[in-house]
Amino acid sequence: MAPSAPPTTSSATAYDELIVLVKQASLLESTSYLLGWDQETMMPPRGVEHRSRQQAQLASIHHRLATDPRVGDLLAACESDQQFMADPAAVAAVNVREVRRRYDRYTKLPTELVEELAQVSTLAHHQWAEARKASDFDRFRPWLEKIVELNRRKAECFGWGKDGEPWDALAEDYEPGCTAADVEAVFRPLRTRLQDLITAVTTSSTRPPNAFNEIPLPIDRQEAFVRDVSRCIGFDYSRGRLDRSTHPFCSGTHCHDVRLTTRFQEAFVNDALGSTMHEAGHGIYEQGLLEEHIGTPMGSAVSLGIHESQSRMWENQVGRSRGFWRWCFPKLGEYFGDSVTSVGFDDVYGAVNIIKPDFIRVEADELTYNMHIMVRFEIERAMISGDLAVPDMPAVWNLKYKDYLGLDVPDDRRGCLQDIHWSSGSIGYFPTYTLGNLYAAQFFETALDAMPDLYEQFERGEFANLKQWLNEKIHAHGERYGASELCRHVTGKPLTADPLLRHLEQKLKPLYDL
Ligand SMILES: [Zn+2]
Repeated sequence: MAPSAPPTTSSATAYDELIVLVKQASLLESTSYLLGWDQETMMPPRGVEHRSRQQAQLASIHHRLATDPRVGDLLAACESDQQFMADPAAVAAVNVREVRRRYDRYTKLPTELVEELAQVSTLAHHQWAEARKASDFDRFRPWLEKIVELNRRKAECFGWGKDGEPWDALAEDYEPGCTAADVEAVFRPLRTRLQDLITAVTTSSTRPPNAFNEIPLPIDRQEAFVRDVSRCIGFDYSRGRLDRSTHPFCSGTHCHDVRLTTRFQEAFVNDALGSTMHEAGHGIYEQGLLEEHIGTPMGSAVSLGIHESQSRMWENQVGRSRGFWRWCFPKLGEYFGDSVTSVGFDDVYGAVNIIKPDFIRVEADELTYNMHIMVRFEIERAMISGDLAVPDMPAVWNLKYKDYLGLDVPDDRRGCLQDIHWSSGSIGYFPTYTLGNLYAAQFFETALDAMPDLYEQFERGEFANLKQWLNEKIHAHGERYGASELCRHVTGKPLTADPLLRHLEQKLKPLYDL
């Protein structure tokens, strides 16, 4: 009797099994996000050692699931069916393509390295928080050295293009397909044009009054106010939360469970408002992913740059616009009563758009913000390539702040220790902020073309049309398109700096009498 032929797996069956495995791995990953959220908001300080072991264990199990050879077999079965893969924008083809990209990447990393990275970054993060409090870089230095070394090993496992460099391999986690050379090509001309505008603004004799930014307002009222605004712009609190953390963030574990954090300063309500609108913008993206696809690439965000475009648009294009403030200004009276009667509409609108080169990235205005990013990109690129030794980093940081923003950095807390990213093991992340600003401006111009009365809608407190437009044009697609492809798909053009510069000039020229 002839041996029976091996059972063939039809591509549809293979695909169904593949999705089950992918969703299992994703469930585990979302659990680790939740532990990360807890670490920043609720965990007692001495929980950190145990948390690092929990995170390492989860990372290890996730890695095992995501690199299961069965996933590779199922991918191959799907890919071999040309008909199944015929339409590259169809749900199944998108999921197979993106699971393949992740699988090839994960299988290049040894489990020990994954565990070590997870454990070291949890501990390093804790040490960073302590070092930052004490403004003492030396305390964080050995941890940063370890993080840089582990990231170099990671980059070597992944490899990079012929004309590329190790940074490219790391950036792939945040902005797939984006290289250091790509970033430099966008940043270099942007820097010159921003620099000219910064000089014009900072040397102008006209400046909006700052008084609104200095009025002390009770934190509990601020919290009620930012909750109200974030709800009105479309963040759904039946599917999300807002808590406090040192460094505001958004952590999406599911479209029905999105965690935002913000922070408050008594005499700077616009910091809390901007941070909350920013994180709510991320949250609206996460809540806009389609439930049926959650746990698969079709139910995931495209890239961090696109994610950031959503937060920046609500924070800047909406939240710093005249139309938005026509609606929001009366709310100040509702929430803060007599404390705000001394400021008029123009004082508030001017104050939220004040340009002032300063040390802290997360407090930076719309214009100087991108300079903060350029400094970080150049430094992390040099640390990873080995051109910059970690002990020399603070000095280089301070030199660049002098060069880019004309500032003398007074201490490490307001200098190289201010950001969470490197301490969490994230290198290659920073440029996504500026890419996000560029994408936000280009998407918003397109939205304005489609809905020319958007600002009048904001004046009436109507934000649903913009949210709906973003839901349809961006959120519902998951990872159907890559970032640059999505940009062409939505705006009809490749990404350029022009919309951002137009947005900034149109707003700042009248305010600063340029
Ligand atoms: Zn953000």
